[in-house]
Amino acid sequence: MRGGLAVTLLDRVDIGSEKQTSYGNAGLLAASSIIPLSSPGLVKNLPFYLFSKNSPLFLKYSYFPKLLPWLIPFLKNSQKHNFTNIIKNLHQLTYDTVEQHIALTKNTKASKFINKGKISMIFRDQSEILKSKSDFEIRKKYGFNFKNLSDYEFSSEYNFLSNNYNSAVEFYDHGWISSPQKYLEALKKEFISLGGMFKKAEVTSISNNEVILKDNYIISADKILICSGVWSKKLLKNIKHKVNIEAERGFHIVLKKVSFLPPNPLMIIDKKIAITPMEDTLRFAGIVDFSGVDAPANKSRYDYIRSLIKNIMPSLSWKEEDLWMGQRPSTSDSLPVLGKSKSLENVYFAFGGQHVGLTIGPKLGKLISDLILNKKTNFNLDPYLQSRFNN
Ligand SMILES: Cc1cc2nc3c(=O)[nH]c(=O)nc-3n(C[C@H](O)[C@H](O)[C@H](O)COP(=O)(O)OP(=O)(O)OC[C@H]3O[C@@H](n4cnc5c(N)ncnc54)[C@H](O)[C@@H]3O)c2cc1C
Repeated sequence: MRGGLAVTLLDRVDIGSEKQTSYGNAGLLAASSIIPLSSPGLVKNLPFYLFSKNSPLFLKYSYFPKLLPWLIPFLKNSQKHNFTNIIKNLHQLTYDTVEQHIALTKNTKASKFINKGKISMIFRDQSEILKSKSDFEIRKKYGFNFKNLSDYEFSSEYNFLSNNYNSAVEFYDHGWISSPQKYLEALKKEFISLGGMFKKAEVTSISNNEVILKDNYIISADKILICSGVWSKKLLKNIKHKVNIEAERGFHIVLKKVSFLPPNPLMIIDKKIAITPMEDTLRFAGIVDFSGVDAPANKSRYDYIRSLIKNIMPSLSWKEEDLWMGQRPSTSDSLPVLGKSKSLENVYFAFGGQHVGLTIGPKLGKLISDLILNKKTNFNLDPYLQSRFNN
C-alpha cells in the first residue's frame, strides 16, 4: 500500500483470528535467535528429544513416516557448513527486528504494542550454559549484547523462579509484542485506512494473473504474493512449485489474573518455552509437536506446559487460562521462502518464518514489496529463493 499499489489481502479467516499462528506466538522480537533448531546439539540429543517423557519435543508416532522426507534433510542441515550458512542467512533477517517493527508501525496504533527491552535466557545452572558455549560464541561474533549474570545478580533479580533454575544470560536491545492479536488487528486497520481491501475467502489455486477462490470466484491481479504460512505448500503444489515445509506445532497457555508478572520475557532453555508478560496476562508459549498440520491438538501437550509452570514458577497463582495451538511454518533448512517464482512471471513468495516469523515479518514484507515494486536493493535473496527446493 505504502508503495502506491492497490492491494487485496485474501485470507480464509479474519486478521487476528486464533486460527493464525501469528495470533498465539510468544511475541518475542528475537534478534539473536539465529541458531536453528537443527543444530549439532539437537542431533546429539535426538534420542532424549524423541523418547523422554520430559522432552519438550512431541511426536505422533504414526506420523513419523510422513515426517521423514522433511526430517532427514532438516537433520542434515545441522552439518557444520550448512549450519554456519543458515546462521548467516537468518542473522540478516533477525538482527534489526526491533527497528523494523518500529518502522512498520510508525504513526499507527500498532506501535504501542512494541516493547523494547531485554530477553532473559534461563538455565538450570552454569554447567548448562557451558554446554551452549559455542552458541554464545556465535552470538558474540555477530555482535549481540548479552551478559551471563553472577549468582548474586541472578538471585536478586530472579527470586520468583524455582530452585530448578539458577542461572541467566540476559540479551539486551531486544523487544516483544504485548498482544500479538491486537497488533495484527491494528496493522489490518492501518492497511484498510490506506485503501487496502480485505476479503475473507479461501484460495484454491492460482493461474497466471488469476486467483481462484473456493466458491469459484476469480480475482485478477498483476502480481500475486503467496504468504499463507505452512499452508503455502498446498498452493505451491497447485502451481507445480516444490517446497519442503512442515508444521512445527506449538502451544500456549495464557494465564489471566496472575499473582505476579515478570518485567520482561524469559526463555526457559531446557524446556523450549518462553514466558512473556502480555498486558496483564502471562503467556507460556513453545514446545514442538510433529503430528501433521491438520491433526487436532493433543491434551497432553497442555498438561506438559501446565506441569512446567509449577516447575518454573511454583508460587505463581492465576484464576483463568486460555489454551491455543498453532503451526510454525518450518522449512527443512530453517530459512524462509522469499522472492519471485522462476517459472511464473507474476508470482512471489514470502513464508516460512519457523520459530522467528514474528521477528522477521516486517523485513520479509519490506524485501518482497521492494521486489514487487522493482526497487533496487543490495540485499541478496538467493539463499531464500523457492527454487532451492527444485533439486
Ligand atoms: C508457540 C509458538 C511460539 C512462537 N513464538 C514466536 C516468537 O516469540 N517470536 C517469533 O518471531 N515467532 C514466534 N513463533 C513463530 C511465528 O508465530 C510464525 O512463524 C508466524 O506466525 C508465521 O506467520 P505466517 O503469517 O506465515 O503464518 P500464519 O500466521 O499461520 O498465517 C497464515 C495465514 O494464511 C491463511 N491461509 C492459509 N491457506 C489459505 C488459503 N488457501 N486461502 C486463504 N488463506 C489461507 C491462514 O488462514 C492464515 O491466516 C511462534 C510460533 C508458535 C507456534
